[in-house]
Amino acid sequence: MPRIKPLDIAIAGAGPAGLAAALYLHRAGHRITLFERFAEPSPVGSGLILQPTGLTVLDDLGLFEQIAALGNRIDRLAGTDALSGRTVLDVRYSAVKGGRYGIAVHRAALFHVLHAAVLRAGMAIETGIDIADLERSGGNAWLKGDSGQRLGPFGLVIDASGSRSRLKRHALRPCESRPLPYGAFWASLENAKDAAPNTALVQRYQRATTMIGVLPIGRPAPGQADMSAFFWSTKPDHLDALKRAGIQSWKDGIHQLWPECAHFMNQIHGFDDMTLARYGHHTLPVPAGVNLAIIGDAAHSTSPQLGQGANMALLDARALSHALAQEADVGTALSRYAASRRRHVRSFQMLSLAFTPFYQSDSRLLPWIRDRLVAPLSALPPAPQILAAMVAGTLIDPFSPIGLKEKIWI
Ligand SMILES: Cc1cc2nc3c(=O)[nH]c(=O)nc-3n(C[C@H](O)[C@H](O)[C@H](O)COP(=O)(O)OP(=O)(O)OC[C@H]3O[C@@H](n4cnc5c(N)ncnc54)[C@H](O)[C@@H]3O)c2cc1C
Repeated sequence: MPRIKPLDIAIAGAGPAGLAAALYLHRAGHRITLFERFAEPSPVGSGLILQPTGLTVLDDLGLFEQIAALGNRIDRLAGTDALSGRTVLDVRYSAVKGGRYGIAVHRAALFHVLHAAVLRAGMAIETGIDIADLERSGGNAWLKGDSGQRLGPFGLVIDASGSRSRLKRHALRPCESRPLPYGAFWASLENAKDAAPNTALVQRYQRATTMIGVLPIGRPAPGQADMSAFFWSTKPDHLDALKRAGIQSWKDGIHQLWPECAHFMNQIHGFDDMTLARYGHHTLPVPAGVNLAIIGDAAHSTSPQLGQGANMALLDARALSHALAQEADVGTALSRYAASRRRHVRSFQMLSLAFTPFYQSDSRLLPWIRDRLVAPLSALPPAPQILAAMVAGTLIDPFSPIGLKEKIWI
């Protein structure tokens, strides 16, 4: 069967999705132009867990060793009720055979490993270009920059511009992101010098209105200090009231619920030392349009409760390059890409929507069910295996539809 000839491809957005897509498609012989709105491409936010899914993609790209050298291995996710000390969540990757684990990373570490690989491959990133729109004519696509530039022509545009994408309205069936009531403050903070090695994400809850978490994320770059991502959930519209009450009042609240966080609290002097992340939720029914592929958060965003977003973005990048390599024309390849990710994306988006209110909502009933019913039941087989597969991102097989085999864990 004839294959697609090398294409001129534009990628909007140099986040994990855009950078991974650039690497795959450049290796497949396409000519890539990457556009990034920031003057200097840089990571946004604090830390995240790379699951066995995302790690398999990074391994496929030849970048696993580099990311493993910077990140912190995660074997377990543990959560307790802050007041009673009752165990609410205890998920271990080892519940599923095969030696799986996650690796928590500072966002800068993931960004720099992917970005350096893009530069090594000789690709340039056109920075300071805010992509505003897309036009088509004569079978090609052009991008429009915010300051009126017309960029193109391109045989394919890849929208990897994140959850606030302005190109996703050109999807076959567009939809907008719906804001979720809760977000979170995040900060990357240095670990204590004498801190014992920790391979768990640890959380404390008070009902579902408060969730505090500490995720050890390794170092942003070689030679730098080991850090943890600290997060505290809140409603973005509570921000003014929090600021009026003052940072000390907020710290006192944390101290009451989790006194062992004192070392981290000493590094926070004001609300500006943290980033308030707002969450939204959307899933494009078809993450594609004419001459347009939509990947990563632009195609599907959600709260980070299940910690899958960056992993999904990496899987999307692999799926798109696999589809383009298998088909004879771009339109058929885009349909194949959308089909290859459909079950996995939809299942995890639904799970995220269902689980988030148990941990982040005003409900009194849901956390009661979580603590009194779900927590004891989740210790009984096959629940530990199901939960471990859910956290790993493999409850629905993401690999075979995109021509990938899971990494061998040793
Ligand atoms: C607080 C928080 C915690 C999270 N924790 C986890 C976790 O533990 N595990 C996990 O897997 N995921 C997690 N996520 C989700 C994860 O960060 C995202 O799913 C992931 O970053 C998506 O990658 P992306 O490349 O699609 O989009 P982004 O990372 O948003 O990158 C988009 C890029 O496009 C650029 N851009 C945007 N608009 C334009 C434009 N108009 N023109 C040009 N460039 C543009 C941006 O500057 C950016 O560089 C978390 C998210 C948040 C907010």
